[in-house]
Amino acid sequence: MKKLFFLYIFYFIYIISTFGAETINFKVWKANDEIYRVTLDFSSEPEISELKSGNKNLLIINFKDSIFRKNSELYRIKDKEIDYIKIAQFDKNNIRLVAKTMKEYKTKFFTLKKNSDFPYRVIVDFYRKEVSEEKFTSPVLPTVVIDAGHGGKDPGAIGKTGTLEKDIVLDIALSLEKELWESGKVNPIMTREKDVFVGLKDRVKLTENKNAELFISIHNNADTTGRARGYRIYILSEDGKADKAEQLAAAKENESFSNFDEIKSKVLDKNVLGILYDLKLNQTISQSSKFAHVILEGFREDFKDIDTQVRRAPFHVLKLAGIPGVLFECGFISNKTDERLLKNKFYREKIAKTIKESVLRYLEEKKLLLCEVKNNYIPDYYEIKPGDTLIKISEQFKMDVDSIKKINNINETSIIYAGKKLKLKI
Ligand SMILES: [Zn+2]
Repeated sequence: MKKLFFLYIFYFIYIISTFGAETINFKVWKANDEIYRVTLDFSSEPEISELKSGNKNLLIINFKDSIFRKNSELYRIKDKEIDYIKIAQFDKNNIRLVAKTMKEYKTKFFTLKKNSDFPYRVIVDFYRKEVSEEKFTSPVLPTVVIDAGHGGKDPGAIGKTGTLEKDIVLDIALSLEKELWESGKVNPIMTREKDVFVGLKDRVKLTENKNAELFISIHNNADTTGRARGYRIYILSEDGKADKAEQLAAAKENESFSNFDEIKSKVLDKNVLGILYDLKLNQTISQSSKFAHVILEGFREDFKDIDTQVRRAPFHVLKLAGIPGVLFECGFISNKTDERLLKNKFYREKIAKTIKESVLRYLEEKKLLLCEVKNNYIPDYYEIKPGDTLIKISEQFKMDVDSIKKINNINETSIIYAGKKLKLKI
């Protein structure tokens, strides 16, 4: 028995080391008429190579020592340019991605690794031969900077039961990063990923260096009475142009920076505003306002205490050259009810999901997102495998269970067994 046990262990280690890379996700996108993009998420970094097929209309990418979780997936595109894109397990060790094109295409691939919690993302671009390579500044995805307020020695506001703003906002920001990464449509970047202090200057510099399309700073609110509740959203206004209440809110967030930051915020203030004026401040502010309204709209459906207006205040962290940004105060940590809600993981995830939807809606309206190609290929038959369920099969082919039942005359007394063939088309 002992021997058998060791054999099992050996077998598992062997499997893991042989098939290091397992696909988690596979999606096909259309960037424009000249570029198709395939994204594949792997559990570890695969070895990728392009194979020459002799047929210039057949593009083949090989992933060595990799396993594809499904049998195969086929995207029939059938436009003037591409007939299909297919991925399948080629043999025991290799996955192959094949694209049949009408015109001559070339490929380019690169891998992205966010951090240890995220899978390896492989991006394969198919582009028409005549498209110049300079068009590719890999990866062509809009960057969204997620700024978790405070951190490290700066705790931010503190709730009645000792909840720290820096912890709550970091958790919301990390969930938002995950949501956006999984969407495959944007490249999210965090100003901090841990409980560390990051100075104001560094948050602004990072956002500007990354050429971000959007900046969102996540905070919790606080007041001395403990009665105020709900959400407030702010965009930048120059000093002196905000109402008293808004000036106070900005002073509160700015103060925590000036208390902890080595850089005197006033010096930075002047410099950054100088750049802003040069780079069409009004245009940036109007984009910020648009984004803020999209967020308010998104939250209105599910969150009762959402603000009705976009507020303007001189937040230092929003003084970004030419980049639209908002500061979102997700609840009052000083209020008992809000604090209790914010301590709930599901509630924080709900906030992150709602922000994600708003980010994607805003970028979609600006036509900055890739367009997902629907996998609408359905085979005539499907052979049931051990472990299959009707729900699983219906999800695989994006059909509803009732129509599968109807086509195959399945009722409560029917016996479904592995090996049986199910009709998927009438
Ligand atoms: Zn704050």
